[in-house]
Amino acid sequence: MTSKVKVRFPPSPTGLLHIGGARTALYNWLFARHNNGKFILRIEDTDQQRSTEEATQAILDSLTWLGLDWDEGPYHQSERLEIYREYSEKLLKDGKAFHVDDPEKGRAVRFKITGELTGFDDLVHGNISSDTSLIEDFVIQKADGFPTYNFACVVDDGVMGITHVIRGDDHLSNTPRQVALYKALGFELPKFAHIPMILGEDGSRMSKRHGATSVTEYREKGYLPDALVNFIALLGWSPGHDQELLTRKEMIEKFTLKRVNKTRARFDNTKLDWMNGKYIQGLPVEELVSKLRSYIKDANLDSGIVSDEWLHKLVELYRERFKTLPEFVTLATPFFTDEIEYEDAAVQKHLKKGNSSLIKDAYNKLKEVNDFSSITELEGCLRSITTKYSIGFGKLAQPIRVAVIGKSASAGIFETLELLGKEKTLKRLEYTINTFL
Ligand code: GLU
Repeated sequence: MTSKVKVRFPPSPTGLLHIGGARTALYNWLFARHNNGKFILRIEDTDQQRSTEEATQAILDSLTWLGLDWDEGPYHQSERLEIYREYSEKLLKDGKAFHVDDPEKGRAVRFKITGELTGFDDLVHGNISSDTSLIEDFVIQKADGFPTYNFACVVDDGVMGITHVIRGDDHLSNTPRQVALYKALGFELPKFAHIPMILGEDGSRMSKRHGATSVTEYREKGYLPDALVNFIALLGWSPGHDQELLTRKEMIEKFTLKRVNKTRARFDNTKLDWMNGKYIQGLPVEELVSKLRSYIKDANLDSGIVSDEWLHKLVELYRERFKTLPEFVTLATPFFTDEIEYEDAAVQKHLKKGNSSLIKDAYNKLKEVNDFSSITELEGCLRSITTKYSIGFGKLAQPIRVAVIGKSASAGIFETLELLGKEKTLKRLEYTINTFL
């Protein structure tokens, strides 16, 4: 059964969907789903100079990518000018608004503040009193016939029957004006919940200088939508226990406005990376492989030629080690290319003269291995060398790793050799012998 809860997300299409906006959308969505209510999408494009089609599209794409589906809309305010005009006429007729003529700009409509402006109850901040002396009569319809934000927003929220207005607390200063408009228009007042802004890692308000701030950027950087949703849900809301990884179902079940924090949350990139890594680990390998293919292709590593089976194994090998999808590509590059880059420090440390005969032995023995897909055979081969030299396995594995991958931090050596294959392995050992030893 649907309840009468109706919330909205009304972005102004002047740029990409900011993380703060995405969180507002998410809280509205969670609130609607928790209450079996409706979530509506409204594009507030009455600022003709700043609104663009591209921004609208980017916002819709981001919401879709995040999985925040809407029940009504998108409504476009620019297509609803008649409705706002009707209501401004009404206010004019009732003597609650008046015309202002400007010889250059034309005729605008101003709302008349009468009597006391009142404060309002906020579900997050409690009672907000307003300093009424600061509020003067204000424009509701500009000379070009377009409504101002405060006016269009109230008319729409009233006409659409919005029950809860959940938005960033940067709008707190608008709310007293809006409350006055609701009253003048005879609409029932919705409940308000103003969510504290998100801070950057250094504690100042999150902005461009903190790096990526839009959903589009996080998407491009290879974060998973489920991880991002989980992460932003916790930027200002708590489920009431310490569990940090929550499915959408759990979030919907637990979401209440009571648990929205009054204090500002900090955006913690390390935590987001950790969370994304967890979600990557939780994905079925097939899904992960198909997602990774496009990144591999974009990096010009030609994934078309590799089999799903091989790629599965490679993904499994690195599964615990990458936190974003492009990170996998960086780790896996040596498996795709003919030539690899050698990390200086790793070369200095592991490919020194003293290891010369060890690596030559490894080269000769590995040359004898027929089946590189047999871990047992590879293991037997390398163990025979460590026995011969009476050394621990790591003393052999590390130099080989650097020789074939170019760096010391890499996954299990047998799987590494298996997936590289005989040809690449021998070529790189040979190169190492000729170049470094
Ligand atoms: N268009 C406004 C914004 O993007 C909407 C604010 C509101 O939720 O009322 O900030």
